[in-house]
Amino acid sequence: MAGSQALPPSSQATGPANGGTDRPRRPASGFYRLVFSDDPKQQLRITRSLLSALVFVVCIGLIVYATAIGMMDATAGAVLAGCIVVSCTGFYVALRSGFNLRFAEPALTLPQIMAALTWICGAYAITNESHGGTLMLFTLVQVFGIFNMSARAARISSIYAVVTMGATMLYKTLTAPEFYPARVEWVYFVFVATIMPTISQLAQQLTSMRERMKAQRLDLEVALARIQELATLDELTGLINRRQMTQVLADHALRQKRNANGFGVAVIDLDFFKKVNDTYGHAVGDEVLRGFAQEARRVLRETDVIARWGGEEFLLIMVETPPGHPGTGLDRLRAALADFPISPTVPGLRVTFSAGLTLYRAGEPIDVAIERADKALYQAKAAGRDRTILME
Ligand code: GH3
Ligand code: MG
Ligand code: MG
Repeated sequence: MAGSQALPPSSQATGPANGGTDRPRRPASGFYRLVFSDDPKQQLRITRSLLSALVFVVCIGLIVYATAIGMMDATAGAVLAGCIVVSCTGFYVALRSGFNLRFAEPALTLPQIMAALTWICGAYAITNESHGGTLMLFTLVQVFGIFNMSARAARISSIYAVVTMGATMLYKTLTAPEFYPARVEWVYFVFVATIMPTISQLAQQLTSMRERMKAQRLDLEVALARIQELATLDELTGLINRRQMTQVLADHALRQKRNANGFGVAVIDLDFFKKVNDTYGHAVGDEVLRGFAQEARRVLRETDVIARWGGEEFLLIMVETPPGHPGTGLDRLRAALADFPISPTVPGLRVTFSAGLTLYRAGEPIDVAIERADKALYQAKAAGRDRTILME
């Protein structure tokens, strides 16, 4: 099968499809892959989770310090530190083992945020006189989720934050008013109840912005593919068009200069095509052009390139033509067309073609070779059509 190539061999060979913007990634070390897995998406999830765990490491340090100076009850501190370690380890194992992939939101952002909010409420409840400082961490946790939480998850986490912290404040005001006086707790609660929904609102705006950008990117990709198709393909036959073929010819000429692989150039013109149009109508004429392209693709070789050169003329490049028989491919096509019902509307219709064939001479301008093939075509027409004339 030949000529079916939407892109010429040259453009298939030139670098990545994105125009070479993809930089080769440095291969990850064995240790990195062991900790972060091989999958780039999982790597990102694990990195985010470990980053938040790092904040908790600092928290545990503070718990140890607060316990040492007697600012925090040692048992309560140990329980909280234990909960944090178990939860961070649990999330790491879930992400590293791939267990997270069973869920609709595999980054497990919402569960991680809710766990973190819970531990900070715990810290708030046991830090007595310095508990106000933990509110900063509370806000930080919500900010972590801003980048990859859905609008719904952001809402849920903000409601959870306000309710859990409100309940903690109420409980502490009732049970330890000497450290958690109602007049202060009330102010803190207003602070939490204002900031949390605001961050959640920002998260929602970011989410919709991300979704819009994603949709726009997809639209652009589709449009770009369409533009490329329009720029290179002939709409009627699906063969590459004249503009693209000009590029392919130039590439072949350049390659021949380098490695002396000869190639043949043939101009093909359907015989008495005007008569087909006049007798059966333009639509049947179009069917014939499509049918010819289809048969040429089937019969010619994979390495040959055929293009619609204009009207009912086609241009064919044949690489590695056998010495002495450069027109073999054209003979095959001619034989195939003799039996091929080229128009579904007029099944009995058969068409023939004339072809002018030449061999490209290394170093000559490609136009000169095409001109020679054109002359040969003219001779083929003059000699009675339905034949190939070779002009070396
Ligand atoms: P010859 O054997 O000498 O080549 O005769 P011919 O009738 O094929 O040559 P001519 O160049 O006079 O006719 C070409 C015709 O092709 C004229 C034009 O209307 C028709 N044609 C060009 N493009 C299209 C097309 O896209 N669809 C259809 N149906 N006809 C087309
Ligand atoms: Mg013509
Ligand atoms: Mg013709």
